[in-house]
Amino acid sequence: MNAPIAIIGTGIAGLSAAQALHAAGQDIELFDKSRGSGGRMASKRSDAGSLDLGAQYFTARDRRFVEVVQQWQARGWVAEWQPSLYNAQDGQLSASPDEQLRWVGRPRMSAITRAMLGALPVRFSCRITEVFRGDRYWSLQDAEGNSHGPYSHVIVATPAPQASALLAAAPKLAGTAASVIMDPTWAVALGFDSPLDTRVEGCFVQDSPLDWLARNPSKPGRDTHLDTWVLHASSAWSRQHLDLPKEAVIEQLHGAFAELIGCAVPPPSFTLAHRWLYARPAQAHQWGALADADLGLYACGDWCLSGRVEGAWLSGQDAARRLLEHLQ
Ligand code: FAD
Ligand code: NAD
Repeated sequence: MNAPIAIIGTGIAGLSAAQALHAAGQDIELFDKSRGSGGRMASKRSDAGSLDLGAQYFTARDRRFVEVVQQWQARGWVAEWQPSLYNAQDGQLSASPDEQLRWVGRPRMSAITRAMLGALPVRFSCRITEVFRGDRYWSLQDAEGNSHGPYSHVIVATPAPQASALLAAAPKLAGTAASVIMDPTWAVALGFDSPLDTRVEGCFVQDSPLDWLARNPSKPGRDTHLDTWVLHASSAWSRQHLDLPKEAVIEQLHGAFAELIGCAVPPPSFTLAHRWLYARPAQAHQWGALADADLGLYACGDWCLSGRVEGAWLSGQDAARRLLEHLQ
């Protein structure tokens, strides 16, 4: 029997592995607890249009990722974003232009993972709670009590804290995943009926509850009927205010935004808050991916490398490469 390979997680890491395995002629089946793909690159559809609440843009530095981003650009999945960039330190706002190429999904961040998924077999709204191995094959158990399988191999492509439980069959991998600390991020979106009177389109922030802010309509292909902004709180502020009600988070981050943006900020006509519990690894690692090749269990994700979109994609490639090498 030729059992397929199960991949848990349809973020960019899981889809990167899925594409590489599919291209090598392997059968795969994907699972995600959410209703769609993308994970931290997902975009939220709202009354104010589509909003990138997680990853804001990405850079490509590794040659392999540069090549794949060029292919995505040629297919119209991504476009360059050239924001008017600022830096805010000690409450002082200053223009901070640079030469860095920055990419975004078009017309929204989630366009990338949606296109990568294509027609690959996937089950959404399916939270996997257990990964266990019989004599030869793997099975998955979901939160509704259904089991899935048999599978020849399993790739766990979730954030580290969620991965450690799913890797219990390989205690060393589970222990490594459990050692990774992931920091939270509170994200707030604000929509204004009239454009704010500022040139700022993206801003790195220090010494503030905020860490980053972006003017969503400045990205290519976005809805522009409202002037929407996405604000990210710093890891420290997010951790300190993890359980604050959404209304209070919106009020506090709106206040910090109004203080630093340097123009009149009217009450927003649209607000939304989202808490990313496992937003980014507290530090980068050089693991590539985790593997117990004899068992047939693998883990990948941004936390295995740089904590960025590029790191997640590279980690998925590494998991697939190691699995394929072991098959030969
Ligand atoms: P994820 O995208 O988290 O995918 C994991 C998937 O697994 C999810 O879809 C989840 O639903 C699913 N899952 C989890 N547990 C289970 C389970 N038990 N069963 C089934 N499915 C499960 N990176 C940049 O390069 N540039 C940026 O500007 C940037 N900004 C960011 C801002 C924020 C607020 C956040 C949160 C992240 C940001 N990042 C940025 C980081 C970037 O988004 C991530 O590095 C990348 O998207 C991680 O991809 P991944 O596939 O490893 O994980
Ligand atoms: P990048 O090169 O644009 O930015 C890297 C870092 O360099 C920035 O965080 C910023 O501190 C600094 N920087 C870059 N250009 C600057 C400029 N013109 N003026 C002032 N400072 C500048 O992008 P990257 O290396 O791909 O990093 C991705 C970004 O994603 C980072 O900003 C990172 O903080 C962010 N991120 C956020 C989360 C989260 O949960 N909030 C998670 C992962 C990544």
